[in-house]
Amino acid sequence: MTSESTTTPDKTEDSTVESTEPESALETARRQLHQAASHLDIDQNIVERLKHPMKVHEVTVPIERDDGTVDVFTGYRAQHDSVRGPYKGGLRYHPEVTQAECVGLGMWMTWKCAVMDLPFGGAKGGVAVNPKELSSGEKERLTRRFAQEIRDVIGPNRDIPAPDMGTDPQTMAWLMDAYSMQEGETTPGVVTGKPPVVGGSEGREEAPGRSVAIITKRACEYYNSDLNGTTVAVQGYGSVGANAARLLDEWGATVIAISDVNGTMYDPEGIDTAAVPSHDEEPEAVTKYADDVISNDELFTLDVDVLIPAALGNVITEANADAIAADLVVEGANGPTTSSASAILADRDIPVIPDILANAGGVTVSYFEWLQDINRRSWSLERVNDELETEMQAAWEAVRTEFEQRDVTWRDAAYIVALSRIAKAHEARGLWP
Ligand code: NAD
Repeated sequence: MTSESTTTPDKTEDSTVESTEPESALETARRQLHQAASHLDIDQNIVERLKHPMKVHEVTVPIERDDGTVDVFTGYRAQHDSVRGPYKGGLRYHPEVTQAECVGLGMWMTWKCAVMDLPFGGAKGGVAVNPKELSSGEKERLTRRFAQEIRDVIGPNRDIPAPDMGTDPQTMAWLMDAYSMQEGETTPGVVTGKPPVVGGSEGREEAPGRSVAIITKRACEYYNSDLNGTTVAVQGYGSVGANAARLLDEWGATVIAISDVNGTMYDPEGIDTAAVPSHDEEPEAVTKYADDVISNDELFTLDVDVLIPAALGNVITEANADAIAADLVVEGANGPTTSSASAILADRDIPVIPDILANAGGVTVSYFEWLQDINRRSWSLERVNDELETEMQAAWEAVRTEFEQRDVTWRDAAYIVALSRIAKAHEARGLWP
C-alpha cells in the first residue's frame, strides 16, 4: 500500500454522527479502529490496511438431509489480520450469518487477541443455516463438509476456529476429526473449544465468565470498592452470566439480580447463585426459582454498584442509557452497549469496562488449549485458572495505564492497547511485497 492509497470517508469514520444505532459489527469495528488511531501516532497506511480483511473465503456446503434430499448452504471464513500470529475466531451456525458480519466480527477478534497480547490474529466464520432445524446427523455432515471446504485455509499455524453461536464442543470435535482424517494425522490444535477428551482444555467453558469476574474485581478495587458489600446485577444467566455471577458471589459480592429471557430474579438481600441453574443446566430456570420477579427492563434501572450485561448485543442503547443507575458497567456479552449509549454513559461518568477485555478469558483459555495441543501436554484446572488470572491482570494493567495517561474511556484505552501492538508488528514486518 502506498501513501497515495485512497481512503473513502464513510459513516464509520465520522464520530459526530448523531445516532449510530443500529450499527453493524463491521461499522463498529471500523469506528473503533479510527477512534483508537486518532490517539496514536501510527502510519495511516496501516490503519487503511486494517480496515479490510486479508482474505474472505466463501464456500457452498451441500449436505444430504435425513430424508435423502440435498440442501446447499453458504459458509464463510473471514480472515482479518495475522500479523501477530495465526488467525483465531469462532464459527457460528445461524440463519443470519453474512460475509460482512464475519468480516466485522473477525476484526473484533484481532483487537481482542491483541489486547490480551496473545500471538493470534482475528477471524470469524460460519454457515448461514438454522442449527435448530438440523438433526445431529445433519449437523455432523454439515460440519465435516464445511471442514473439507475450508481445509486449505485453516490449521494450527494458519487459522484456528472455535465454538460460537449454534456450535459447541461436539461441533469442534467433528471439525477436528474431519481435518485430521484429511491430513492423515491427529491435529487437535486446528480448533479450540473441543471436549477435554480430545485435547480440549479444562476451564475453557467457564473462562469468559471467570474473566468477567476477575475484571469486575479489579475495577471495583480501582474505584475503591471492596467486593464485600458490592451489589451486582447480571443480565443473562448462561455460560458467561452464570459463571461470572457465581464467582463474584463466592468472592463476597452480593448479587441482587439475575435474568434470563423470561424475566429477572430480584432479591435485595442477595441471591444464592449456586442454587439457581444456569441456562445450560436448566434452560429458562431463573424465573422458576425466583420469589420476586421484575421485568428485564427494570434490571437496567436497579441502583447497583455493578451492572453486567451478559446476554446479548445492543441492549444498552440511547433509549435506556439515561436510566442506568449502576456505578460501573462491565460488558460480559459482545457489544452490549451501542456507541450512542457509550457516549451517554461517558457523559454521565459511568465507567464501562469493554467486552474485548472483560470477556477475553474465552480466547485466552483457547490459547492455552492450543499450547496444550501443540505440546501434547494437558494442564490442570488449577494451572489454567492461575495462568488466566495472570493474563487478565497483565491486560488490565496495560489498559489501566492508557486509561490514566490519556484520559480516555476504558473502551478507547483497550483499543489503544490493541491497535498500538498491532501497528508496531506491522511496522516491524513491513508491507509485503
Ligand atoms: P448462553 O446462551 O449460554 O446464555 C445466554 C443467556 O441470556 C440465557 O440465560 C438467556 O436466557 C439470556 N437471554 C437471552 N435473551 C435475553 C434477554 N432479552 N434478556 C435477558 N436475558 C436474555 O450465552 P453465552 O455463551 O453466555 O453468551 C452470552 C453473550 O456473551 C453473547 O453476547 C456471547 O457472544 C458472549 N460471549 C460468549 C462467550 C462464550 O464463550 N460463551 C465468550 C465471549 C463472549
